[in-house]
Amino acid sequence: MNKPVNKLLKDNTLVDPFNRHITYLRLSVTDRCDLRCTYCMSEKMTFLNKTEILTFEEMYRLCRSFIKVGIKKIRITGGEPLIRKGIMDLFEMLKPHLSSDLNELTLTTNGTQLHKYANQLYSNGVRRINVSLDTLDPTKFKLITRIGKLEDVLSGIDAARDANIRVKINCVALKNINENEIEKFVNWCIEKDFDLTFIETMPMGDIGNESRLNHFLSLEEVKKSLTSKYKLEDITLSTGGPARYSKIEGSDIKLGFITPLSHNFCSTCNRIRIDATGVLHQCLGQSESLDFRKILRDPFSTNDKLLEIIKNSVKQKPEKHSFAYDFSKEEIKGQINRHMSLTGG
Ligand code: SAM
Ligand code: SF4
Repeated sequence: MNKPVNKLLKDNTLVDPFNRHITYLRLSVTDRCDLRCTYCMSEKMTFLNKTEILTFEEMYRLCRSFIKVGIKKIRITGGEPLIRKGIMDLFEMLKPHLSSDLNELTLTTNGTQLHKYANQLYSNGVRRINVSLDTLDPTKFKLITRIGKLEDVLSGIDAARDANIRVKINCVALKNINENEIEKFVNWCIEKDFDLTFIETMPMGDIGNESRLNHFLSLEEVKKSLTSKYKLEDITLSTGGPARYSKIEGSDIKLGFITPLSHNFCSTCNRIRIDATGVLHQCLGQSESLDFRKILRDPFSTNDKLLEIIKNSVKQKPEKHSFAYDFSKEEIKGQINRHMSLTGG
């Protein structure tokens, strides 16, 4: 039997069956993007109809309810969040929570629109952002993103820095593509004072003729090769995420490694994701989900009912993802059909 709502509210925390406290919500605001990164999307994507995507009011109502039960950090993501029309409205709605019950409001972006929005993001309380960038070579940038211009991202990053927003670079490590740029990336981030996180490519969504197996680069190997060039010291920075961090001797930056494939760190996972259609995904690499859009659009659903459903939803959070590449059999295990661009990375 479900607990009564007032008892649920008294608990004021979301704790899953594996005793993990869920305090971090990633909200995807669109499945659309102005780039077509080869590891993320196929060249010809079919995007959702606008009516399928939650309105900002619906997103805010959900966020407010999640904040009530202990969410302390919200990351806005996508698709590309900054291409959604009126996106600053959502930041404006969430901003007042930063002075009471929310610790951080942040963003993951490909950076192409940052030059337009950096100052407004700062005014809306955003102090740190993640910018995804996989190469510093303009030709390769075009190859990876199919349609992007590196200079747009670089000027966006400069605009964020000028607006006093701290930038962390997220770079997907790709065999035979940016493998030879790893050191260059580290040096560039040291010079610019940006934290840097490398990510292993995950088997999510159809990417057409591209091969994930061919481009998978184990970060265990990357880290080993960096150790011969830099003095890395592992640090215990508990973000509840899949990244493990090191300090580079002689610099102030943090170097992160997100290794869902070569190393599983699910035991400390503190996050849940809501996609642009209002579906809650308990785990990036599993299919357990709950459709909040239906509940939000039901004229009889009260805020108390919504809170009760949220509280009960974490009971479904799985223990871990099942992603795995088997190179000997050229097989991908645990492939998830949804694209990362829908769920939000
Ligand atoms: N468009 C924004 C961006 O690129 O930062 C936000 C959404 S994007 C889906 C979020 C992150 O997911 C990016 O850092 C991207 O590199 C990463 N990503 C996308 N598909 C991935 C995959 N299959 N495996 C690993 N990372 C992926
Ligand atoms: Fe767009 Fe981000 Fe996916 Fe690249 S990784 S296609 S920028 S959503």
